[in-house]
Amino acid sequence: MVNELTILIKNATVLDLNRFAAVESDILIEGDRISKIGVDFEVKEKENLKVIDGRNKVALPGLINGHTHVAMTLFRGASDDLPLMDWLNNVIWPSESRLTGEDVYWGSLLGIVEMIKSGTTTFCDMYFFMDEVAHAVEQSGIRAVLSRGMVALDPANGEKGLKESVDFIKNWQGKANGRITTALAPHAPYTCPPEFLRDVIVEAKRLNVPINIHISETLDEISIIKERYGTTPVRHLESLGLFEVKTIGAHLVHVDDEEIQILKRYQVGAIHNPQSNMKLASGIAPVVKMLEAGVLVGLGTDGAASNNDLDMIEELRAASYLQKVSNMNPEALNAKTSIAMATSLGARALGLTEIGLLQEGYKADIILLNTNETNFYPRHNIFNLIAYSAKGADVDTVIVDGEIIMEKRQLTRLDEEKIKFEANKRGLKLVAG
Ligand SMILES: [Zn+2]
Repeated sequence: MVNELTILIKNATVLDLNRFAAVESDILIEGDRISKIGVDFEVKEKENLKVIDGRNKVALPGLINGHTHVAMTLFRGASDDLPLMDWLNNVIWPSESRLTGEDVYWGSLLGIVEMIKSGTTTFCDMYFFMDEVAHAVEQSGIRAVLSRGMVALDPANGEKGLKESVDFIKNWQGKANGRITTALAPHAPYTCPPEFLRDVIVEAKRLNVPINIHISETLDEISIIKERYGTTPVRHLESLGLFEVKTIGAHLVHVDDEEIQILKRYQVGAIHNPQSNMKLASGIAPVVKMLEAGVLVGLGTDGAASNNDLDMIEELRAASYLQKVSNMNPEALNAKTSIAMATSLGARALGLTEIGLLQEGYKADIILLNTNETNFYPRHNIFNLIAYSAKGADVDTVIVDGEIIMEKRQLTRLDEEKIKFEANKRGLKLVAG
């Protein structure tokens, strides 16, 4: 159901990411869309008009977390500072084997609350018990691209995963006024053999959904693919025809120049996860090179167990700093580009055409940052302030699909205290065994 409230944000600093300008404007939201941006336009007095004072606030498109496993908030901080395989074998996989649908539901809500409170309005998720994640998304008011992760080293497992994925897509695609869309998610080229990936491609074409997959995350993966197929992950997936389907590729840390051209040619969405890549010592993605080549590069946090938070403002800053130090160039990945990766470019990376910009006719996914904190003074340059001094906690108001889901840092739909209580209880129990 489309929400009937009309919202008028008055006198805000509005970020125009087409022109990379900041303009003092009003924004009118009718139903689920932005109907007008400008000054001095007339709004008829009506009963259901909600006016928000935009002074000392900057309006920007809601942030887009392009890669996560949201229910993994349950394992946040359970065990850190370990090599990837130790961490997976001894902590994460045993805990995940005990997961129930209800655990995933509460863990998802915890992650969603954290994302809303730090300005994320859309996330792209891959996990299990996706019906529960979808219920959490539906209730919370956030927007999401959801996919059931499929591992097919054992063919029976792959078959089960694909069947469940197809059912999930049939049940949820376009639900909640289109806030929920879906994808097929073969976990990675080293956990899904070619014959399985071919089946996935056929299904993705038939159902007209994107493919969400991890690609070239670690050097171990590069060796495995080399040994099995005599090539690299990107070339391997290209040869299978996977990129003929809209692909959302997470990580793409270890890619060469020719692979970057392949990603560009097929308009693959490359989701960069700088903090997860740093924490797990996976490596540094050639983000500057990819952007220069015209690849659609978005940003993600990855799961909360390998980050350890879901704050996209922190992530875009980390992305920028990591490129500066790895290129030994302070001009690399500037403030405006890192903001675009978390918004307009991130939307294109996910194949979402109606979000990521504050523009008339676009979906009303808008966040207001309170710029009256000390970290926003003096007001030299709002792009620099957002990229390099803003914090998730500066997010004051969050609007998704034309509905206010947080106002003055209070959630309008969810019971934050109950969610923290349930997620804490369940997370501790899952890890204790
Ligand atoms: Zn991941």
